Amino acid sequence: MPIKAIFLDRDGVVNKEVNYLFKIEDFEFIDGIFDACLYFQNLGYAIIIVTNQSGIARKYYTENDYQIVTKWMLDQFKYKNINILDILHCPHGPDSTCDCRKPKPGMFLKAKAIHNIDMEKSWMIGDKEIDTIAANSAGIDNTILVRSGHRIDEPNSNANIILDSILQTKQIITE
Ligand SMILES: [Zn+2]
Repeated sequence: MPIKAIFLDRDGVVNKEVNYLFKIEDFEFIDGIFDACLYFQNLGYAIIIVTNQSGIARKYYTENDYQIVTKWMLDQFKYKNINILDILHCPHGPDSTCDCRKPKPGMFLKAKAIHNIDMEKSWMIGDKEIDTIAANSAGIDNTILVRSGHRIDEPNSNANIILDSILQTKQIITE
């Protein structure tokens, strides 16, 4: 049976936006993220994080730096009894021809293949239009952008819904 999933962008959705974040001390969870994830989990969603990390290609930090922050972050979720099924990252830069850097849908499609995800029943929560484009290209119609990260060009967004933060998604995702 295919599973349904909530795809979360990381920077600006899970944690406060910091340019090229790679230190644990700079990592600050956004208010309500644990609450929302517990809620999604109780509704039967798997939670998957998909994140562009071009700071690796730009040599602002290393793959290993990224992995250290990721392990720490996943531990914080674990302490709250939240299971993050998978976290995918694109380490490439804007000039790369990779198929994973959002707005390309590669990370979503990879997760779909690995975990047998029903994209029609899944949601994407991001803070940039590239998140919406990538999700739509991967077959996810349910898209939410949150204002807790980058400024959104709201009149020109293809997102279904734009909310102040992930806390409010509970009113939208109800089954
Ligand atoms: Zn990539």
